[in-house]
Amino acid sequence: MVSEMTVFADVTQISDEALWCRTERHLWLWERDTPVVDEGGRMIAFIRHSTCDRCTATREQEISMTTWSVVKGKIHYPKGYLVTGGRLARPDIYREQFERPARRRAIERSMDR
Ligand SMILES: [Zn+2]
Repeated sequence: MVSEMTVFADVTQISDEALWCRTERHLWLWERDTPVVDEGGRMIAFIRHSTCDRCTATREQEISMTTWSVVKGKIHYPKGYLVTGGRLARPDIYREQFERPARRRAIERSMDR
């Protein structure tokens, strides 16, 4: 929930890839499944390892072989994905996606002179 106390981070500090994954979701590609066994050596779950084809984040999901559902999950983010200094507001991300290319073109034009 956004409250008056919410501090927003500078959206310009995140990578192009991170901008897109934040609004369009990650492009998860399956890498491998590895077994999870109990004390008796019986396979009770597996860890599904996936990598985002855009931002290179990696995900590990533990999938129970009793309920066939995800019981644990974690994502490791690449450099340039996470921000410091607060949260990112969705409207700021959309605006940055729209304005960043034009800003870059303007910089390139000024360097050509
Ligand atoms: Zn991603």
